[in-house]
Amino acid sequence: MNLTRTMAVTGAIGTLLLAGCSTDATSGSDTAASGDASSAAALTVGTAFYPLQFVAERVGGDDVTIETLISPGVEPHDSEISPATVRAMQTMDTVLYLSDFQPAIDAAVETTEVRTLDAHHIVDENSEAVAIHAEEAHEGHDHAEDDHDHEDAEDHDGHDHGSADPHFWQDPTLLAEYTTDVIAEFSELDPDNAAAYEERGQELITDLNDLDTAFTEGLATCERRDLYVGHEAFGYMALAYDLAQEGLSGIDPEAEPSPARVREVRDLVLETGATTIFTDSEVSASVADSLAEDAGVEVAVLDPLESVVDGDDYLGVMNRNLEALRTGLACS
Ligand SMILES: [Zn+2]
Repeated sequence: MNLTRTMAVTGAIGTLLLAGCSTDATSGSDTAASGDASSAAALTVGTAFYPLQFVAERVGGDDVTIETLISPGVEPHDSEISPATVRAMQTMDTVLYLSDFQPAIDAAVETTEVRTLDAHHIVDENSEAVAIHAEEAHEGHDHAEDDHDHEDAEDHDGHDHGSADPHFWQDPTLLAEYTTDVIAEFSELDPDNAAAYEERGQELITDLNDLDTAFTEGLATCERRDLYVGHEAFGYMALAYDLAQEGLSGIDPEAEPSPARVREVRDLVLETGATTIFTDSEVSASVADSLAEDAGVEVAVLDPLESVVDGDDYLGVMNRNLEALRTGLACS
């Protein structure tokens, strides 16, 4: 924390001056009392991937300077972290991350001994229910003659973020839970601005609960509930809104699906009458495309929200995802 922060009228200047920072600048750049960028915001916070960055921006407002630990637009699985970023971490007030998801970030946290706010307790508390739901959905799809080489999350081969599904932000109520943690973290580090963190945080929690309501209502009555995806990033969404996720490539988007798995998913698509396979940019799109062509179905985008492009934000992308689901699953 910088004790001269009261000199600064706004954090926008400091935010704009930070190279590589993807915080949007909609907060404006009106008169700052100090030209010293480092004194513009009370806290400097590192964020390990996009949904955590979004929460930090909304709760922190102008009182926090956000530094993204990996380049914007880079998908976080297997992401690298630069030596300069590791050095910068040593002066951050706190780092928002999810342990057992990005090995490079885990290592940098250990090296720097920086203070952290780990989202892992949310994964710990919910991933078992996600795995059970997935297993039930999968069994519902099972056909006896098939020898499944598709493994569940517990022993999925080749992924590197622990045994539990990390993608908790696909359930907005769980991102709201993390928002509560972030309010407490910022308030403890910067008590002078605690009321502002609380107010902005509660606004975000309201937005996330509204989004949850939109998903619940929007997916209440659909002709189909089977969700065929490339990268299995939607387990928490499937649990929250009672969908059955079947993925080509598993939890890790880097893993190439086996030909046997592709055939299996194609058979399931045909059996269940699905009209759509959902893909994101992270899975080998050609596999999904050729599967869709083979099965005579459409391809639609469902964004895992592990990174965003400029101008997008979590709420906007989630609303697009909801519309894609409502079309692809024929919801009324
Ligand atoms: Zn992922």
